[in-house]
Amino acid sequence: MRLSTDSIHADPDAPVAVQELLTAAHAAHASDIHLQATTRGVDHQWRVDGVLHPRPGFPNPLGERMIGRLKYLARLRTFQDSLPQEGRIAASEAGLPEDVRVSTYPTVSGEKVVLRLFRGGSAVALGDLGLPASTLAALRTAIAQPTGLILLTGPAGSGKSTTGHAALLELAAEAGRHLVSVEDPVEILVPGVMQTEVNEARGLTFANAVRHLLRQDPQVLLIGEIRDEETANLAVRAALTGHLVLSTLHAGSCRGVLERLRLLVSDPFAVAASLSLVINQRLMRRVCTHCGGNRCDRCAQTGFSGRFPICEHLALTDAQRPALRAGTFDAFQPAPTLAESATAAVAAGITLPSEVRRILGT
Ligand SMILES: [Zn+2]
Repeated sequence: MRLSTDSIHADPDAPVAVQELLTAAHAAHASDIHLQATTRGVDHQWRVDGVLHPRPGFPNPLGERMIGRLKYLARLRTFQDSLPQEGRIAASEAGLPEDVRVSTYPTVSGEKVVLRLFRGGSAVALGDLGLPASTLAALRTAIAQPTGLILLTGPAGSGKSTTGHAALLELAAEAGRHLVSVEDPVEILVPGVMQTEVNEARGLTFANAVRHLLRQDPQVLLIGEIRDEETANLAVRAALTGHLVLSTLHAGSCRGVLERLRLLVSDPFAVAASLSLVINQRLMRRVCTHCGGNRCDRCAQTGFSGRFPICEHLALTDAQRPALRAGTFDAFQPAPTLAESATAAVAAGITLPSEVRRILGT
């Protein structure tokens, strides 16, 4: 553990230390703060551009009191440290523009607390995402259609929700369609969209929510994630009955999405008739333009500054639908592939081979 002598000599008042922590992490564009309680103090990391960076820890008793303070602010049971808890610190109490989501979990060495800092708060325009031109054009063509199923894939933190919200934002700019979303949770507000959240504890699952929301006369429905057969079948059926449906589905590739959708949905004709576009994306760190990756103060000694998406996509043509129906996937080859996009980004000097290995493996 790294103990910072600065924090020992700094104001020992936990509320002040918590406020400083939140403010500094927000200013550094951290998306998450990780705090791990140990017997000696609290270890501490920030996630910036998708990568965890160690930070100076907080010695006890300050560290303990900071965790207590965070739980108090998030309306959690302060003395409960043997069961997981989840809560939220209101933006006004966090002193930040957005709420902070708080998740605690007991570990064998002490309580782990993860703070998620909601960023931006507003959706990014589709044209500002930095999507490759061919993927952007395919997405714009797909959302211009009155019906169809658009599936975004990629691991957590790959930017697929941001892409979905950007698509909704663009659709909201042209009046005329009723845009509805069900998310878990709503992290970004999109003006002009009726956004709702699942509530699993009360039985409002994605599937239940979709069933009800389809009676709210939507033309466009964003389903945060397809996790089960029921939601997959509802999404496909909605896309076949006059709705444009956007959702995410976990898979490693565009072809993986096709295979998984065929497994989840019992009717292969419905899958083949409804699917319009699959996008598989990752976010890669951009080499710092000030030091060219050699690490400087402008990039907090990481060599990187900001991220950009790399993508592969499959826009389904009518000629391909029989193959999808039959479950033969050989004809479905995105061009360029994710790996080719990554290689091109390295060749253009936008990122480094080490980043490609971190994101795509070898
Ligand atoms: Zn730099």
